[in-house]
Amino acid sequence: MKFGTKVIHAGIEPDPTTGAIMTPVYQTSTFAQPSPGKHKGYEYARTQNPTRDVLQNNLAALENAAHGLVFASGMSAIDAVLKLLKPGDEVLTSTHLYGGTYRLFTQTYQDFGIKFKFVDMQELNRISEHFNEHTKLVWIETPSNPMMNIIDIKGLAGVCKKFNALFCVDNTFATPYLQNPVTLGADIVMHSVTKYISGHSDVIMGALMTNHHDLYEKLAFNQNSTGAVPGPQDCFLALRGVKTLHIRMQRHCENGRRIAHFLKSHPKVSKVYWPGFEEHQNHMVAKRQMSDFGGMIAFVLKDDKIEPAIQVMEKLKLFTLAESLGGVESLVGHPASMTHASIPREERIKSGLKDSLIRLSVGIEDAEDLVTDLEQALGK
Ligand SMILES: *Cc1c(COP(=O)(O)O)cnc(C)c1O
Repeated sequence: MKFGTKVIHAGIEPDPTTGAIMTPVYQTSTFAQPSPGKHKGYEYARTQNPTRDVLQNNLAALENAAHGLVFASGMSAIDAVLKLLKPGDEVLTSTHLYGGTYRLFTQTYQDFGIKFKFVDMQELNRISEHFNEHTKLVWIETPSNPMMNIIDIKGLAGVCKKFNALFCVDNTFATPYLQNPVTLGADIVMHSVTKYISGHSDVIMGALMTNHHDLYEKLAFNQNSTGAVPGPQDCFLALRGVKTLHIRMQRHCENGRRIAHFLKSHPKVSKVYWPGFEEHQNHMVAKRQMSDFGGMIAFVLKDDKIEPAIQVMEKLKLFTLAESLGGVESLVGHPASMTHASIPREERIKSGLKDSLIRLSVGIEDAEDLVTDLEQALGK
């Protein structure tokens, strides 16, 4: 099946009891058992729920993976992966991370005796130096939030294999429409389903997909033990959203391309971060591993101070100032004070994330209107 067919059909059958085309919302906490221990695969909804199962199978198919698990949030999905580790283990990760991921690493798991090493992974030629016998997990985002840095997934997968480290890719920005990390050698793919996959800014959810059966069993065990599961109504909404993922992504990419070029030619803008530009540090890698460049863009003004950036954000009318991304509506954000506020300023600046950086999640509105909005907000 091709992608556009999978989003609608993979793992989805009409409901066996009624023939309902849409997967029913199994709003139940428990299931009747004819005799103790004899049941139809469902006992208690923390462990399994039919609405959730359909979504999990669908998302696994989209990432070309054998198994999928959905969680109450993207963060709880990451948390489940970290619970595979033991005190003394090391995680090798990128300097370019979602703020919440950085916070979970440094403010929660560091206290449990797990070490986190942050390195720039855009250049892979000297990456081996950072591995040692304690390196058990490698965690990356590509494109990264918010500066759209690109990491070579296939190249890094090879290094991880050599050092026997688990390799996990947060694929939230690219979505399975643009890139499939499992196919490129990753052990686990993680998603904040909250973003593009659900796509309508009405659900908080996370997901993990893997081809390794033993890993899947451990992750499912962790999930059932700790209970970070989404409710059936949210699973229904994610299933409804995912059916249009391919056509939404197509438009996000088209609009993203248009706006990236508009910003690049604007006299008040000094730099635009978008992997579709040939001069982007890893444009060739992006071209190889992604089918297009997405709708996430960041830019800085020539007047590189915080106030003019805030003025632009306040003047925007169609781009709403808000956390999050990947919905049908365009959003604008200020990473330094919003999504990445939990990263210390010094660390943030070192990673190149300037105070004046503005991040756009380009929606699927008419591109003409979006450009007009940016034009009026930037001024002449
Ligand atoms: C939003 C986000 C997360 C966290 O997901 P939640 O659903 O908000 O818990 C993780 N990684 C990236 C790249 C994100 O954008």
